[in-house]
Amino acid sequence: MIRYLLAGTAALLAASAAAAETYAIQAGRLIVDAAKPARGPSTVIVENGRISRIESGFTAPAGAIVVDERSRTVLPGLIDAHVHLTGDPGTPFWRDAVDSNELAAVIGVKNALLTVRAGFTTVRDLGAVGLSSFALRDAIRDGIVPGPRIIASGGALSIVGGHGDVSGFRPEVNAALDPGGTCTGADQCALRVREWAKKGSDVIKITSTGGVLSQQGRGLEGHFDPAEIRAIASTAHRLGLKVAAHAHGARGIEDAARGGVDSIEHGTFADAAALRVMKANGTWMVPTLMASTGLKDRVNKNVYTPVVEAKARQALAVWGRALSAAHRAGIKIAFGTDSGVFEHGRNAEEAELMVRLGGMSPREVLVAATTGAAELLGLSNDVGTLDPGKSADLIAVDGDPLADPRAVAHVGFVMVQGKPIPMK
Ligand SMILES: [Zn+2]
Repeated sequence: MIRYLLAGTAALLAASAAAAETYAIQAGRLIVDAAKPARGPSTVIVENGRISRIESGFTAPAGAIVVDERSRTVLPGLIDAHVHLTGDPGTPFWRDAVDSNELAAVIGVKNALLTVRAGFTTVRDLGAVGLSSFALRDAIRDGIVPGPRIIASGGALSIVGGHGDVSGFRPEVNAALDPGGTCTGADQCALRVREWAKKGSDVIKITSTGGVLSQQGRGLEGHFDPAEIRAIASTAHRLGLKVAAHAHGARGIEDAARGGVDSIEHGTFADAAALRVMKANGTWMVPTLMASTGLKDRVNKNVYTPVVEAKARQALAVWGRALSAAHRAGIKIAFGTDSGVFEHGRNAEEAELMVRLGGMSPREVLVAATTGAAELLGLSNDVGTLDPGKSADLIAVDGDPLADPRAVAHVGFVMVQGKPIPMK
């Protein structure tokens, strides 16, 4: 026992010692804020885990550890507002009845490292079994394992038999696997919000419509009724928590936005009427185009059950259309991928899809992945730009991500809260 305690203490001391170092990160090109013009050769000075100042040219204050990124572009760490770190893609659904929640947390350790090495220094985890995503979040926060800062929902609120419930097994097995997030009626839904807040949620996730990868065969339209959504949103907001609503069908999107959720995740079948309600309510869209890449790689391959296969084809038929319409309508867009539906570490590929399918400019995509997502997550004071005083969350990439959306997929250096991430 004492040995374990000592090992833990050593890890904590090592983490705080690293944060106390001064770094001089020399950048060939520097993007301080994705919305503003890039700077030429510059040096970012990091002290005590925070950005203390930015100097022109290449400098090296006495005692600082110099990080040579003179051939690269340095920019704010990327933010993925929709991940599932504790799961891997293509896992057969029956494994839900076999694998432990503890295994999920360990899988999350692997995926957290893949994700942070891909340049994502903050993620929002929107759905995990048990308390696995909280354990992962806390372990990274305490410097026990490397990874991105995590904003975690824990589980998801769902109707009975909805996307966030467990279906597809014998009734008694479904009951045994009940994730504790289903509710019926405004009062019970408000209670679930309070229960998850008590367990440690940083954000409330609801599956306001059907979803593709669950074994429920009740379509992709609205599941919760408007009174339930209003109760969830107002209860969460009173506790200082935002609400992320998984939503595919247009009427379900409309109900969720009108009910006061903060973001629509996926938004697959959003039509003009749904987008009007989102715009009027200031609702964000998190497009998760990479989720469809995950589906595309797996349909017609006997990976999915018939009920999932049918929903996957429906979603794939309109890939990218909703983002394109939302962008034209001036909806606020935050970068998010749904990693876990596809392989962790490929998150940055979303950027190229947002340009090609969504009609966004590379700069707009970079804003969505930095200041945009930071605003949605309520972290604007700490991350999203490289302004002095903010957390030292930054990455270096080959090429110019303001001109080429594929540049963010070529990451050579990552720092999270003043600590460099081991890249191999
Ligand atoms: Zn998801």
